[in-house]
Amino acid sequence: MNNRLYGNLIFELSQEGRKGYSLPKNRFGNYDIPAELRRKDDAALPECDEMTVVRHYTNLSANNFGVDNGFYPLGSCTMKYNPKIDEEIAALPQFANLHPLQPAETTKGAEAICTLLCKSLCELTGLYAFTLKPFAGAHGELTGLMVIKKYHESRGDDARRLVIVPDSAHGTNPASAAVCGLDIIEVKSLSNGTVDVEALKTLLSEHGSEIAAMMMTNPNTLGLFERQIPMIEKMVHEAGGLMYYDGANLNPMLGACRPGDMGFDVMHINLHKTFSTPHGGGGPGAGPVGVRKGLERFFPEVSPYHGNFAVAMRAYAYILSLGREHIKEVGPLATLNANYIKESLKDVYELPIDTTCCHEFVFDGLKDKSTGVTTMDVAKRLLDYGYHAPTIYFPLLFHESLMIEPTENESKETIDGFIAVMRKIAEEAKTDPELVKSAPHNTPIGRVDDVLAAKHPVTTYKQMLNDNN
Ligand SMILES: *Cc1c(COP(=O)(O)O)cnc(C)c1O
Repeated sequence: MNNRLYGNLIFELSQEGRKGYSLPKNRFGNYDIPAELRRKDDAALPECDEMTVVRHYTNLSANNFGVDNGFYPLGSCTMKYNPKIDEEIAALPQFANLHPLQPAETTKGAEAICTLLCKSLCELTGLYAFTLKPFAGAHGELTGLMVIKKYHESRGDDARRLVIVPDSAHGTNPASAAVCGLDIIEVKSLSNGTVDVEALKTLLSEHGSEIAAMMMTNPNTLGLFERQIPMIEKMVHEAGGLMYYDGANLNPMLGACRPGDMGFDVMHINLHKTFSTPHGGGGPGAGPVGVRKGLERFFPEVSPYHGNFAVAMRAYAYILSLGREHIKEVGPLATLNANYIKESLKDVYELPIDTTCCHEFVFDGLKDKSTGVTTMDVAKRLLDYGYHAPTIYFPLLFHESLMIEPTENESKETIDGFIAVMRKIAEEAKTDPELVKSAPHNTPIGRVDDVLAAKHPVTTYKQMLNDNN
């Protein structure tokens, strides 16, 4: 590794007077900036030649791990399949250069795409209408709950302020209900990981007339299909509540079943998880909300214009490129791949809920607990072998959660390679536990002290220099 280029900040590579750019001659004259708004000193920008800049950022980018470098089995929030053609289509200048304020008669094509995407989503989910406005999954949850709140208010049913959320739910569910000004009431899961219908019955008998909605994720956060939905849906509707479907990870459902047919009234979809769009680090995303007929008049204005149009473009391109015929294969393949990994590893990793899963499943650490090797250690050791770590210590239902989602688009060879490495790590945990506990060894930065990082975060370059002196 070239140390001069690697591990330095661009500021440390700066040499006074170096230039890595040339700008065209100014053809516009100088704008007269009032003296009190002008800088007293020049901005302290780094001064580097062109090749130093190119190499610095290229080397930094090579330290990023992404779906284009290797297998990325991050459960729950992972990116599924992000075909490159969707990127090309979203970047077409005819669409990418649109301005939201340009005359409506010049944007008919973009509007048609929004309409056709909504129509496709209706067909895939069995719901009646979609809005593309929400910018993320959590934003979609809030939008959907606002629809539900408005619906009850429109009937003069103002006392309905409770939202039932299973204890296995994604943290955004209770958070969105709270932001919407509703109260949360938790329903427990059974030891098999699905909603406890008896507990729900008790809860509905005590609070029936206050229930606004029940939020469900299916497959749930353990990757399990909630088989009691027909019964749950009936109970909640009889109590006067609506059913909300968290469809952030819809891929295992594609071609298998539809939330609308299961009796759900409102749902959101994370286009950025299920329908392409590389995401991470907070964006970009889109969380369209779909509703049953009659509820569309309660759609609130949650964003200006048409939401995140470039994400909608990718989703529509994704749906069209798979087509009616192949989109049906997404769910079964995602399910097959996850179950294949689960069955191939369950003799060495602890499988607390041993049943058929959907697109993902959860191990509770290594089976052999005597080695002292934790889920964190396994995750770190995977990095040495060139794999991204699975989701760890989530869900909170187990102490050593290791949540694996392979997605539908990986080859058998890739998946077999991952299985072999997971088995190798289990073996190393027995023969050389220290090797696993001190991993990673091959990455640019070794094991970081994450307690120190939380207790004493170093957030500026100056602070780093001071700490090192
Ligand atoms: C990712 C996810 C969300 C939240 O989506 P964001 O786009 O991150 O806001 C909600 N529910 C589930 C089940 C998720 O996996």
